[in-house]
Amino acid sequence: MKKFKAESQRVLNLMINSIYTHKEIFLRELLSNANDALDKLYYKSLQENLSFTKDDFAITIEIDKKNRTLKVIDNGIGMTAKELEDNLGVIAKSGSLEFKEKLENAEDINIIGQFGVGFYSAFMVSDKVEVLSKAYGESKAYLWSSTGAEGYTVKEAEKEGWGTEITMYLKKSAENENYDEFLSEYRIKELVKKYSDYIRYPIKMDVEKTRAKKDDDKKFETYTETETLNSMVPLWKRNKSEITQEEYQRFYTDTFFDYEKPLKVIHTSAEGAAINFNAILFIPSKAPFNYYTKNYEKGLRLYTNGVLITEKCADLLPDYFGFVKGLVDSELTLNISRETVQHNHQLKKIAANIEKKISDTLFAMLENERESYQEFFKEFGIQIKYGIYENWGVNKDKLKDLIIFHSVKQDKYITLKEYVQGMGENQKYIYYANGSSIDSIKVLPQAEKVLECGYDLLCLIDDIDEFALKMLGEYDKKEFRSISGKDLGLDEESAVTETEADKKILEYIAEVLKDKVSKVKLSGRLKSHPVCLTSEGEFSIEMEKVFSNLPNTQGLKAQKVLEINANHPIYEKIKKVFDEDKESVKDYAKILLTQAQLIEGLPIENPSEYSDLVCRKLSL
Ligand code: ADP
Repeated sequence: MKKFKAESQRVLNLMINSIYTHKEIFLRELLSNANDALDKLYYKSLQENLSFTKDDFAITIEIDKKNRTLKVIDNGIGMTAKELEDNLGVIAKSGSLEFKEKLENAEDINIIGQFGVGFYSAFMVSDKVEVLSKAYGESKAYLWSSTGAEGYTVKEAEKEGWGTEITMYLKKSAENENYDEFLSEYRIKELVKKYSDYIRYPIKMDVEKTRAKKDDDKKFETYTETETLNSMVPLWKRNKSEITQEEYQRFYTDTFFDYEKPLKVIHTSAEGAAINFNAILFIPSKAPFNYYTKNYEKGLRLYTNGVLITEKCADLLPDYFGFVKGLVDSELTLNISRETVQHNHQLKKIAANIEKKISDTLFAMLENERESYQEFFKEFGIQIKYGIYENWGVNKDKLKDLIIFHSVKQDKYITLKEYVQGMGENQKYIYYANGSSIDSIKVLPQAEKVLECGYDLLCLIDDIDEFALKMLGEYDKKEFRSISGKDLGLDEESAVTETEADKKILEYIAEVLKDKVSKVKLSGRLKSHPVCLTSEGEFSIEMEKVFSNLPNTQGLKAQKVLEINANHPIYEKIKKVFDEDKESVKDYAKILLTQAQLIEGLPIENPSEYSDLVCRKLSL
């Protein structure tokens, strides 16, 4: 008896003890494995000119009520003894691993359906599972057998022909747990229709039927007949006008393991001399839980002439549309190997075509279904903005009209084009502000003057936003200006003049705060608020915040300017005490800086010192 690898053991335990209500998905998983095994052999036969045709392949389901077993049999590629060990003793698929991680953290058993949980799901319904397999071209067959937790055995066995036969010894039914249903022909038929109708090889089962006897039509006899349970026509080969939205949705949720129906379905095809393909693409409603991590793999399923070539062909999607799920079936030359797919020029054309389709769909949504587009942007907008920024902006022109920001003046999301259309003649720049929320941006001290001039302000909430705008540089020849940047470009700004007395005070404060700010000045942009922080140079305070969260970039600092409102009573106060009480001025300086840092959402180094200072001042 051999033990399962630790990882597999844990997934297996979850399966065995599963209280998951959709145990029925085990059949889908086994049929999909059988389908892959047939695909692999068919693919091999096309490459090596073995004389198979598609009609030589089938999947068979056998029910044995007496022995309470259910079998799934295929005449696909099969497995050698080593493959049985390697494939069934460890978790082969990253999906299963993700599933395990997620489960351990969330304890939410209902997410099982989101993942391709694979072969182990057989243990949700069985006490014991046997896999009898003979690899194509080998003479020996092997039997893998396991009752779950203890481990598994592999030994030599007899089997006619190649392929794999999986036998599930079903668990006994108990209260609230019915396993007998999987011995019912009717139920199995129903499950195949529900989950596996599109499998492109026949799924056959002997079905018991009754008919009138030939010699006496008052009497009935039972007989068995082999039925094909699935329709075998893949959805994408059917006529668009005959496919209902429900069918697309069902296909999406079953195939891509999502709970929610897709936000948008794109069913497209191209026929021509250069390229010939059918594609069904989906924009998910929600980003997958691992979407913004390095574990997420983008890609579309690629079939050629109905044979699955690869599960995830990454080259069919640009990174910025990496959220799209779906498949492409094309008449590519079949002798391309799975590895060289990316170098195929036909594939490049298909990819370009698909990108255009996705882009057109998004623009149409933006134009005609703004609410849906906002939903989309909430989930995947970061990706689009990142697309503008990455690779030194090569794709920025394709993407710049797809981004939206919240507008303070209009109190809704608008495009850059809409911002520019709303600009008055006097306004030279596109203004934006960074903040953690729209509400916090609206009340930023720096925002007051800009808004008072009647200019609109775009709210930048995500880390990537300012990087994307900096990459764009301008839109429609209008430069972007941060309200916390050096120069707002407002005429009123220059009005502030600093007297000699002011200069002395500001120099003194600058000396007190010299490690924290590079300059202290009287502000031209503040109206009622006492202080704010702005920055000089290209590297903004927001960027400093972003970089402080990344490894190896913590040392990067913006050149900060502390701006004080000359008309605020606090400045009057400082002026008054400046000559006789420098200690107080020091305290005021520190308090003003900390307040400005708080407004910017910057971390403060010594909160308790700040608290003591404020309380001391308040109790005077
Ligand atoms: P996967 O998601 O990779 O299918 P499974 O746990 O379901 O994960 O299966 C693990 C591996 O076992 C498969 O990748 C495949 O190589 C092999 N396998 C499973 N079922 C069969 C089968 N019926 N015929 C041949 N190989 C199979």
